[in-house]
Amino acid sequence: MEKLKQIYEGKAKKVYSTKDENLVIVSYKDQATALNGKKVGTIKGKGKINNKLTNHFMKILEKEGIPTQFVEEISETETIVKKVEIIPLEVIIRNFAAGSFSKRYGVKEGTKFENPCFEFSLKDDSLNDPLINCSHVLALKIATKEELNTIKNYSFKINEILKEHLLQYNIKLIDFKLEFGKTKEGKIILADEISPDTCRFRDEKTNEVLDKDRFRKDMLNENYGYEETYSRILKN
Ligand code: UDP
Repeated sequence: MEKLKQIYEGKAKKVYSTKDENLVIVSYKDQATALNGKKVGTIKGKGKINNKLTNHFMKILEKEGIPTQFVEEISETETIVKKVEIIPLEVIIRNFAAGSFSKRYGVKEGTKFENPCFEFSLKDDSLNDPLINCSHVLALKIATKEELNTIKNYSFKINEILKEHLLQYNIKLIDFKLEFGKTKEGKIILADEISPDTCRFRDEKTNEVLDKDRFRKDMLNENYGYEETYSRILKN
């Protein structure tokens, strides 16, 4: 299947139409951004790693009963996915306190939660992705009660599957962001990516940073997290 026309360009991916109106091709870029687009850089090889890791996780989740957008990987950096209308919510699940949660609530980074924490933000860069609650989502008609329930149930289940899967590679899942989409038939499915750009990964024993936090925090070896996660999970 070939790319027809670019229909979208985001911070880390481009999307192309295909001759099948139900399918699009996602192309992952090496570009990295942080601080809501204020910091921009290039991390060589990131596009390939995020493409391959996302597809790996999507396949595992599908097997465990989570419907996803994944169809077929067609090159190192490109994948055919089902066309969906993205629900403008960034769903975040946290197992340990970090990042904006620690700042907002004054909780020490690394504090473990007895129960995973669920939250979402409105996906809107011009508003700085504000945190919103279920009632706001209903008032803004972003999703129905049933759709919200589905999103919440899938998100907790995805957390359990990923957490368990990553532990065999000595990777601790601190938190991550999910996006969901709606198919033409109105079905909610998991969309977007699952990668070191969208998850906080730490080494299980040493707490070494294995994700985009190296770039966000100007740490050395910005690409190390991507390469190390990729090699632990996919290079054997
Ligand atoms: N995250 C993301 N995109 C965003 C915001 C957050 O993928 O626009 C991910 C981030 O990588 C982390 C989790 O969501 O794994 C929680 O991020 P947090 O709310 O702590 O915000 P941050 O500290 O990244 O600004």
